Amino acid sequence: MNCHILTLFPQMVLDGLRTSILGRAEEKGILSLEAVNIRDFSENKHNRVDDAPYGGGAGLVMQPGPVYSAYRSVADKLSKKPRVIYLTPQGRVFNQSMAEELSKEEDLIFLCGHYEGIDERVLEMIVTDNISIGDYVLTGGELAAMVVIDSIARLVPGVLHNDESAEFETFHDSLLEYPQYTRPEEFMGKKVPQVLLSGHHGNVDKWRREQSVIRTAKARPDLLAKAEITEKEKELLKTLDFQKEI
Ligand code: SAM
Repeated sequence: MNCHILTLFPQMVLDGLRTSILGRAEEKGILSLEAVNIRDFSENKHNRVDDAPYGGGAGLVMQPGPVYSAYRSVADKLSKKPRVIYLTPQGRVFNQSMAEELSKEEDLIFLCGHYEGIDERVLEMIVTDNISIGDYVLTGGELAAMVVIDSIARLVPGVLHNDESAEFETFHDSLLEYPQYTRPEEFMGKKVPQVLLSGHHGNVDKWRREQSVIRTAKARPDLLAKAEITEKEKELLKTLDFQKEI
């Protein structure tokens, strides 16, 4: 997968994304990360890429010309028109199933806005998907692009050491993941659940599934409504009184 990021802050995006797992995936050639500096396509001698909004109002708006030229510098090299994701608080709120769908693309362009945003005309011309990372406003699209790219890239085969670890984690089947434990067996008087030390895979799987269902019911009842749970699991949930713990 090739991620092309159109931004005013290329170093910020590359420094963040190249740390740890995605950096190693890039070294192995499974993933490529390219940051294109929109300022390199400025159309004036002061290197400006923004101007005051028509109609008045606060702040500055990114001009359409440099954004369009930055887009063309990437799109012209590709054999097919890529999806262009504009990170915006006005977009569809990002989730795991969107990450799964996008992870199948060969090339993706991410467009990061700044200031008051980007001139609407160029957005109409190039953007295919508007994505928000949540109902709050950031100063720029860079952090949002990093969040989205990180969650997409880790689903690309070979990026994680063990592809199963992405398959069976939180949000898979609309359930949160079970609790995880590692050495030591006892920490400040708190012991690892006995079943995990038993070596009995059937019992471990049963315990993990139950914990997933209980956790989801407690923390994200909205997700549980979409999950497939058995009659026995429904009965189990009825026996638990979450109110006491909240
Ligand atoms: N004036 C815009 C509005 O009210 O919709 C907000 C602009 S915001 C200050 C600057 C840039 O940050 C946006 O162009 C977008 O790229 C990015 N941004 C802000 N919040 C975001 C969010 N929740 N998700 C994704 N991108 C966001």
